[in-house]
Amino acid sequence: MASIFYDQDADAALVSQRRVAVIGYGSQGHAHALNLRESGVDVMVGLRETSRRRTEAEGEGLAVGAVPEVSAWADAVMVLVPDQYAADLYHAEIAPHLQDGDALMFAHGFNIHFGEITPAPGLDVLMVAPKGPGHLVRRTYIEGSGVPCLLAVHQDATGLARDLGLSYAWGIGGTRAGVLETTFEEETETDLFGEQVILCGGLSSLIKAAYETLVEAGYQPESAYFETLHELKLIVDLLYEGGLSWMRYSISDTAEWGDYSTGPRIVTDETRQVMKDVLDDIRSGRFARRWMAEARSGSHNLLEMRARDRSHEVEQVGARLRELMPFLTPRTPG
Ligand code: NAD
Ligand code: MG
Repeated sequence: MASIFYDQDADAALVSQRRVAVIGYGSQGHAHALNLRESGVDVMVGLRETSRRRTEAEGEGLAVGAVPEVSAWADAVMVLVPDQYAADLYHAEIAPHLQDGDALMFAHGFNIHFGEITPAPGLDVLMVAPKGPGHLVRRTYIEGSGVPCLLAVHQDATGLARDLGLSYAWGIGGTRAGVLETTFEEETETDLFGEQVILCGGLSSLIKAAYETLVEAGYQPESAYFETLHELKLIVDLLYEGGLSWMRYSISDTAEWGDYSTGPRIVTDETRQVMKDVLDDIRSGRFARRWMAEARSGSHNLLEMRARDRSHEVEQVGARLRELMPFLTPRTPG
C-alpha cells in the first residue's frame, strides 16, 4: 500500500512562514486562497487588471494584485490558471519575479511534465493537486473535512520541497482527507487518461449514443433522458460508497445479469485497443502538442464542439425535465 499523509504528518509552520501568491481565482484559486487565509497563511491573489474575479476576491477581504506584483511579493507561488495559458503567463509575468529558494507550485502536472515550463534550477517545483473540484475543496474545508490531494516534487532546490507541499496541503484542508505521494508523470498521464477515457469523454459519448439509440428506435425522449443520464447519479453514488460489488448488490438480479453479459459487448477488444492508443497519445506528448496548438490558435475547434454539444437534444430535453425537479439548483454554464 502507498503511504498516505494526514494532519499529524504535516508541519503547519512551513507554509505559515511563507508569503503565498495564488495566481487565478477560478474553481481551484478561490478555494486555495480562502482556505489558506483561514488556516492563518499570509496570502495574496494574482489576477489581470481587467479580471472580473477581482471584485469577488476583494469582496472576500483578500489582498489582490497584478501577477508580476504578487509574484515578486511572494516566496511561494501557486499557479491556478487554465493549463493552456499557464506557460505564456509564467514566462511573461511570473518567472522574472522569482528568486532562488522560492517555491513554484501547480495543481496539475501538465506544463512541467510536457516541458511547456522549465523552471530555473534554484526553485522548488511541486504539485499539490486536490482530487476534486474547487467548490468542494472550499465547502469541505468549511465543514471541517477536506478533499484528498496528490503531492509530487519535480525539483527540490531547498531540500524542503516535499515538506512544504505537505504543509500547503494542510493549509487547504487536504491532510484532513489524506495526501498521496506521486510523480508529475503519473499524475499528469493518469489524470488525462481518466478524463478522456471514462470520466468525461467516455461517459458523455456513452450517454449520447445510448440516448440516440433509444430515441431513434421510437421511445419518448423523456424516458431516454431518465434512463441514460439522470439515473447515472444513483449508480455512481453506489459505486462511490461501496465499489462495483455494492452497486451490483443494490441493483436487481436482472440488471446484474445484464451487466455481466452485455457490458463486454459494449467495451470490446477494439475499445481496449483504442484506450491503449489514447494512452500512447498522452505519454508521447502528442495529445499535449495538439491541445496547445489548438489553444494557441484561438480554440476554434473547442468552441465549435462546445456549441454543438450544448444544442444536442439530450441537453434540451434534460433542461426541461430538470426545471420540474424542485430539488435541483438551476445550472447554466457561463
Ligand atoms: P478556472 O478556469 O476555474 O480558473 C482560472 C482562473 O485563472 C480564473 O480566475 C481566470 O480569471 C484566471 N486567469 C485566466 N487566464 C489568466 C491570465 N492570463 N492571467 C491571470 N489569471 C488568469 O481554472 P481551474 O479549473 O481552477 O484550474 C486551475 C488549475 O487547477 C489547473 O491546473 C487545473 O488543471 C487544476 N485543477 C483543477 C481542478 C478543478 O476541479 N477545476 C481540479 C484539480 C486540479
Ligand atoms: Mg482531473
